[in-house]
Amino acid sequence: MPNKESEQKLNIVQVAVPTPLRRKFDYLLSDTINPDQVLPGMRVLVPFGRTKQIALVLGKSTKTDIDIKKLRPISKILDKKPILSEAIIKLLNWVASYYHHPIGEVFQTALPVHYRKKESASEQGVTTWFLTEIAREADWNLLKRAVRQRSILEQLKNAPNGLTREQIAREQEGQWQTALKVLSEKKWLDSRVVEPVIRQYKVTAGINKNSGLSLNPEQQAAVEALIENEGCYRASLIDGITGSGKTEVYLTLIERQLKKAKQILLLVPEIGLTPQLIHRFEGRFSVNIQTLHSGLNNTQRMKIWQQAASGEIRILIGTRSSVFTPMPDLGAIIIDEEHDLSFKQQDGIRYSAKDIALVRANNADIPIILGSATPSMESLYLCQQGKMAHLKLRQRAGNARPPEVHLIDVRGQYLQHGMSRTLIDLVKQHLAKENQVLLFQNRRGYSPVLLCNKCGWISYCHRCDAKLTYHRQRNHLRCHHCLTEQPLPPQCPECGHGDLSQLGMGTERVEKVVREIFPDTEVIRIDRDTTQRKGALQNMLELARDGKQQILIGTQMLAKGHHFPNVTLVAILDIDQGLYSIDFRAPERLAQLIVQVSGRAGREEKKGQVVLQTAHPEDEMLNTLLNRGYSGFAKKALAERKELLLPPYAYQALIRCEANKIEYYQAFLEYCFQVMTSLKQLRSKNSPEKESDIQFLGPVPAPMEKKAGKFRGQLLVQTSQRKELHRILNDLIWNVEANKSAQRVRWSIDIDPQELY
Ligand code: ADP
Ligand code: ZN
Ligand code: ZN
Repeated sequence: MPNKESEQKLNIVQVAVPTPLRRKFDYLLSDTINPDQVLPGMRVLVPFGRTKQIALVLGKSTKTDIDIKKLRPISKILDKKPILSEAIIKLLNWVASYYHHPIGEVFQTALPVHYRKKESASEQGVTTWFLTEIAREADWNLLKRAVRQRSILEQLKNAPNGLTREQIAREQEGQWQTALKVLSEKKWLDSRVVEPVIRQYKVTAGINKNSGLSLNPEQQAAVEALIENEGCYRASLIDGITGSGKTEVYLTLIERQLKKAKQILLLVPEIGLTPQLIHRFEGRFSVNIQTLHSGLNNTQRMKIWQQAASGEIRILIGTRSSVFTPMPDLGAIIIDEEHDLSFKQQDGIRYSAKDIALVRANNADIPIILGSATPSMESLYLCQQGKMAHLKLRQRAGNARPPEVHLIDVRGQYLQHGMSRTLIDLVKQHLAKENQVLLFQNRRGYSPVLLCNKCGWISYCHRCDAKLTYHRQRNHLRCHHCLTEQPLPPQCPECGHGDLSQLGMGTERVEKVVREIFPDTEVIRIDRDTTQRKGALQNMLELARDGKQQILIGTQMLAKGHHFPNVTLVAILDIDQGLYSIDFRAPERLAQLIVQVSGRAGREEKKGQVVLQTAHPEDEMLNTLLNRGYSGFAKKALAERKELLLPPYAYQALIRCEANKIEYYQAFLEYCFQVMTSLKQLRSKNSPEKESDIQFLGPVPAPMEKKAGKFRGQLLVQTSQRKELHRILNDLIWNVEANKSAQRVRWSIDIDPQELY
């Protein structure tokens, strides 16, 4: 008798389950479910081990490699429609394979939190407000004095399908929320949850609020080059000095896309999402513009996600994770400040939003534009290879002129708490002209080291290989790596000596010193410590923007994107920290920092001046940057990388490992090293014609071996052939997952690592 099952047509569903296992799972569709009801991109509930999990459907099939008797059926379908498009599924599949990350976790990361929880299963709608019959029949003239209520009613009268809160907010101002509440209490309004519909977006007359500036010849040329490839994939780099009008170029292109009923995704750095930028967009276009960033709660994120997916949002401005947002009419992707490190996620899936965006644009066959005053070596290399168009803007737009940059040699000068006489005099001159001064110090707190003058004791963190920073205002020592805090010891914990020295300068100390030297000047310090409260940063930035005769002190946070019209002097107090680092990317980072910070000077009519304090004025890289600009520096840096076979001329993966004991991470990394070494030998034996240049550097302790009580080590894999790298990692993972030593450690693979520790 023939096997009954083999005659039957099987309905297999392939899903991604949130688990660290690097594979997809097959489930059966029971007869009670119509197979047409299950589509890729929908969530389903599946039995998994002894639990149930929310899984995402990736595809359907009539075949499976698994023994049919072992297959379990899907418990429940959670969505009526796919929540992810085929395009996003394809993208996430790429992410899982390129970053060698478990696919279930990739989907988990890309979805808004609400979708990962069971409770939200059927809750896909948006609350929409309508006029009730009572309102329609009422005499609105009675509301003459309730202006807000009247205005909301008028707005809803013209919206037969109802309006969401966001839509109402867009046309209302003042106390409209109260008015809405009053109206609903007297039953003039009613709300219900409506499933979001993918609306056919129509171009209406009103896209522009403002026609924008007339472009200068450089901007015009860039726009013309970009327009040539408007309808298909093309990566372009706008390499334009600060203030050269890059944003204006983006706006021109966005306008063209909006007119073709397209959506735009603009990715910005973590701290680049300033109110200034948003105002500029909102001032220019009358379409729905929203922002997506880490400051939003889960509900807000979910809403934005749904509105982008339904096509309601036309311009989405967001940080790194926005790259996964579904946008059905996506017409172009723009990445502003593309060199910024925050586009790379440094934990979990260590993805580069920039690279994912390039893949997404390629898949969707749409243009992608990267912009920066200090492009990354990776992007410049792509330009050299002809894989990216290189568009240059070399002049400041408008009236501003580029600042002059000078070094202050601090050798042999008396430093008054980190400030040289030359610098103090300069600050005085600029303040006397009613201008502002920006002092940049990339280190928070009061002093980074506490030292006993008698026995040499130093304030180390007991959980990390790092020193504790003294924070004066809260009078404690804090570790910036594990956040441990402890009170300031009244005397040396080792020898009891009472004389402890605070060495080095943090922004808190700079502020104290500056207040002493310039007692009649207003001083604003902007760093992570002073901007913790919600709205604090914005308030300070506003003060800084309008101020005169002020000194601004800041960290990294002040380096980018901000526009302070009265700043004419920018000083970096200590660039030497960045000159001698073990990381081969350190010079690139320092050059970017110097150029970006300099960009804060002289943004309007007043000419700007930039000074850098250093004890190494002869440094070659520094002089290249000063004499030949960032592009001269970049050329030299790229040549050096080529010679040393470093990225972008080589591909790297960093295997990191963390454990409770040093031996555990050592054993694990040693195992990885052995496996890969034999894989390499095997490969060169089997195909001797294909010489592999794969190299293993390590295992070695991480630059900070002990962090938050854990011990960390790493193993770097490097080759000039990208394929080789991925092949060997795939084989390695296959081995590791079958090996017990992996159970004692936490390990991860960082593809294209940006920080080698
Ligand atoms: P970037 O993004 O390159 O830093 P922006 O687009 O912000 O530059 O422009 C810098 C300044 O120059 C802004 O104040 C902007 O309004 C002004 N600007 C830009 N393009 C023009 C133009 N074509 N004509 C006059 N001013 C311009
Ligand atoms: Zn001591
Ligand atoms: Zn610590």
